[in-house]
Amino acid sequence: MGKHTGFLEWNRQAAPYRAPLARAHDYHEIYTEHPNGKLREQGARCMDCGVPFCQSDNGCPVRNLIPEWNDLVYRDQWREALDRLHKTNNFPDFTGRICPAPCEGACVLGISDGPVTIKNIEQAISDRGFAEGWVVPQPPTVRTGKTVAVIGSGPAGLAAAAQLNSVGHHVCVYEREDRVGGLLTYGIPNMKLDKIAVVQRRVRVLEQEGIDFRVNQTIGDGTNNTLDIRDLKATYDAVLLCTGATIPRDITIPGRQLSGIHFAMDYLTPNTRSLLDSNHQDGRYLSAKDKQVIVIGGGDTGTDCVASALRQGCKSLVNFEVMQKAPKERLQNNPWPLWPRVYRTDYGHEEAAATLGDDPRRYQMSSVEFIGKHGAVTGVRTVNVQQDAGKLVEQPGTEHIWPADLILIAVGFTGPEHQCSEPLGLHYDSQSNFLAKHGQFTTSTDGVYAAGDCRRGQSLVVWAINEGREAAREIDRALMGSSQLP
Ligand SMILES: Cc1cc2nc3c(=O)[nH]c(=O)nc-3n(C[C@H](O)[C@H](O)[C@H](O)COP(=O)(O)OP(=O)(O)OC[C@H]3O[C@@H](n4cnc5c(N)ncnc54)[C@H](O)[C@@H]3O)c2cc1C
Ligand code: SF4
Repeated sequence: MGKHTGFLEWNRQAAPYRAPLARAHDYHEIYTEHPNGKLREQGARCMDCGVPFCQSDNGCPVRNLIPEWNDLVYRDQWREALDRLHKTNNFPDFTGRICPAPCEGACVLGISDGPVTIKNIEQAISDRGFAEGWVVPQPPTVRTGKTVAVIGSGPAGLAAAAQLNSVGHHVCVYEREDRVGGLLTYGIPNMKLDKIAVVQRRVRVLEQEGIDFRVNQTIGDGTNNTLDIRDLKATYDAVLLCTGATIPRDITIPGRQLSGIHFAMDYLTPNTRSLLDSNHQDGRYLSAKDKQVIVIGGGDTGTDCVASALRQGCKSLVNFEVMQKAPKERLQNNPWPLWPRVYRTDYGHEEAAATLGDDPRRYQMSSVEFIGKHGAVTGVRTVNVQQDAGKLVEQPGTEHIWPADLILIAVGFTGPEHQCSEPLGLHYDSQSNFLAKHGQFTTSTDGVYAAGDCRRGQSLVVWAINEGREAAREIDRALMGSSQLP
């Protein structure tokens, strides 16, 4: 513990985002840098608890050694802090930016005061590591001669590939998109995670360490320009599926066939691709410019749609959330160290309030009909709902029609596509995810493993990293008889 009285001397001070009015007009990252001195103070607030809940079951899913690197930052030993961080997390450059930080929800200081700014410190350590040139490719010194195919290059696939390559296996990552990264590249928008400066920077390191990336390669049953998964299984010593939870949940109400209604990913992905390809000069994206936009769904994906529509210059913006507004403080049934289910204002909502004069969220709102004219959507009819014994009950007399000419559906994902799993005859869980136990990751087919959102369902980047790392350990164990991987 760096400073015994640190938590008494300094309050929590998270690094602010750039001013909402300024950032809502560009796709640069929203973050600002904290000066060194500030970060050291914040690190010194860590109480080095006997039981560090921040890295326990309710805290960090990759069990980052948080008190250790808080202390090292306070002592100005940044290089050592980076080494500690990389012991448990391959990609703190990603999580330091976009993790919702369950660690902070479980921080003991958070019981009576603001929790330590763990996520800010993680980002700062990682950014300093790259800036100082401390993050360099570390290819393995010995190769085992074993080969592994990883399908999907999201955080689960990348973490698994990094771990397997580090112990000398030859790893080939197959990705159907034209760029590596999964949702790190084509889901989470650039203002939250810079694709070139952050994602590609890390991918380059992985390439230089010897990982073979093959983009524009869809794996399936061998028809329709896909590579046959059965051929990969026969060629490689192990196959790991990290294909994500990519099937969007639909809203099947009257009027769904009208034009102007799109799934969030059909909006977000081309927007980022066009930004990267041509700085939006090619026009190959759906534009919200001058449109009345309604985003249905209040999660991360909905927020990213809100923020993107603002940047495109939408005329108006409303964001429906079916649940009621969360309370300001934890409720009794949501005690520390559980994830605090409290009211938050995310970056997109803050930007909308600053730009359009109003927070766009409307709560307890259920869409019952899309309304249109000449085949195009012109609005949506809603009714207010209330929770009653776990059910959502419509409130009579609360019908309302909202004008709209672009509607984005962001109500989650139902599970993975079965393009790779069907030819192998894999078994599924009740949610249609690939059936494999966490900690084992073996599917019903010998030599085939599954990790990340395709196994656990729609989740978080930090959980995908956890699964990729742990699946790598199990594959290494199966290939070599034992494993040194954590
Ligand atoms: C819009 C959005 C915003 C999000 N924001 C956050 C956030 O801020 N913080 C956070 O922690 N989490 C966030 N998430 C969730 C997070 O991105 C995912 O949980 C995480 O990326 C899952 O990682 P994964 O590796 O399992 O799968 P993915 O990242 O989905 O990667 C799967 C990859 O497999 C590829 N693939 C699929 N099928 C095939 C095939 N047949 N052949 C070849 N390749 C294939 C896909 O193209 C994709 O690249 C967000 C999700 C979305 C949709
Ligand atoms: S990865 Fe997420 S949960 Fe873990 S320390 Fe970083 S911000 Fe916290």
